[in-house]
Amino acid sequence: MDDADVVIIGAGAAGLSLARRLAALGPAGPAAALVLEPPAGPLRSPQRTWCWWEAAPGGEYDAAVRASWDRVAVYGPGGGRTEAPVAPLRYKMLRSDDFAALVARELADRPAVRRLTAAVTAVRDGGRWAEVDADTPAGRLRLRARWVFDSRPPAVLPPARTRLVQHFRGWFVRTARPAFDPAAALLMDFRVPQPPRGLAFGYVLPTGPGQALVEYTRFSRAPLGREAYDAELDRYTREVLGLGPFEVTGSEQGAIPMTDAVFPRRTGARVFRIGTAGGATRPATGYTFSGIQRQTRAIARAYAAGRVPLPPPAHRRRHLVMDAALLRALDRGRLDGAAYFAGLFAGHPPGRLLRFLDGRSRLRDELLIGLRGPVLPMALSCAELALLRRRAGHPG
Ligand SMILES: Cc1cc2nc3c(=O)[nH]c(=O)nc-3n(C[C@H](O)[C@H](O)[C@H](O)COP(=O)(O)OP(=O)(O)OC[C@H]3O[C@@H](n4cnc5c(N)ncnc54)[C@H](O)[C@@H]3O)c2cc1C
Repeated sequence: MDDADVVIIGAGAAGLSLARRLAALGPAGPAAALVLEPPAGPLRSPQRTWCWWEAAPGGEYDAAVRASWDRVAVYGPGGGRTEAPVAPLRYKMLRSDDFAALVARELADRPAVRRLTAAVTAVRDGGRWAEVDADTPAGRLRLRARWVFDSRPPAVLPPARTRLVQHFRGWFVRTARPAFDPAAALLMDFRVPQPPRGLAFGYVLPTGPGQALVEYTRFSRAPLGREAYDAELDRYTREVLGLGPFEVTGSEQGAIPMTDAVFPRRTGARVFRIGTAGGATRPATGYTFSGIQRQTRAIARAYAAGRVPLPPPAHRRRHLVMDAALLRALDRGRLDGAAYFAGLFAGHPPGRLLRFLDGRSRLRDELLIGLRGPVLPMALSCAELALLRRRAGHPG
């Protein structure tokens, strides 16, 4: 049995963010930390593109950011376009492989934090140590660690009242003629047919006049099959965006839980969950990356101070209450989701809205957003939620 101060399970957004923050603590950090990541195959998370907004310049990942925008746009279901600058913020795009390469460079001269190819099979909590079992290319491994941070996506979601999924597929496209405005990220384009419940939109991240990541996204109860996404993307790129001839140079597909489930951040005396598994996803938007940064910064601070490195909640309670009402209203068909989100962008200054969507808004922002929104569907959903208990499986 090998010993480590810290074992981080998973080298995705949360695992690598935490690894680099612990490594940066130097002598105040762990003397030995291991990041475990399965070999390429079904367990390993596929490559993906993360976007978030933050003050520019000077972001800690700027060296790896592929593209960024100082304007964002939204199309309402009737075709009206709202476009606004987001200064002093910037909407930034980071590819997961670029992020992994950046972290690998940072860790190269910090031997206290090592990466190991290992698929974790079991985690056992204990009073003084936790144990982690893993399969490695060299055979079975059992590790003893003072602290374990587990970012494996949960196989089963915790009990919930509402379970929606934000699911999407995107194409990296190269067009024959200039077709995009590289100055603005198109966050939500509601000029696509709307499902009876939930909502659907296009998302366009232009990296040049003839290059973009174009996605089709839905908020609903279950993901679609690949052919259905491709059919929607085909229609969106040709009929709505009118791209003309183009080639698809790559793709990505994913699903993010949108739920009022409570994700436990501590599952034992020595075992914590981080990332999506630890509740970092904002339920009403799916944005997770900035919540992960907040959580991992706080863990590193606690570690350096010799405190129990418990991940703090990534989102404020009142935001989770608002999100639960919104998800319920969407799921019950009480709310026209496309009109709601398009109205948010049209009716509020981008700074207020982005603070709200990122979970950094002030109470005043939320009151203004709440009062100018669909008060009745939200109030009905709040009343309904008060009578419901969180349950395993899908709510009826
Ligand atoms: C396609 C896609 C695009 C997204 N885009 C955005 C975005 O633009 N902005 C945003 O804020 N959020 C986005 N999200 C949501 C969220 O930020 C990501 O899912 C993010 O990757 C979550 O980080 P994580 O560390 O919790 O999970 P992951 O990044 O999935 O990391 C989990 C890690 O656990 C590893 N693992 C799994 N099983 C084992 C095992 N048995 N042993 C060891 N390791 C294991 C996996 O290989 C993986 O590396 C996106 C999600 C997807 C799916």
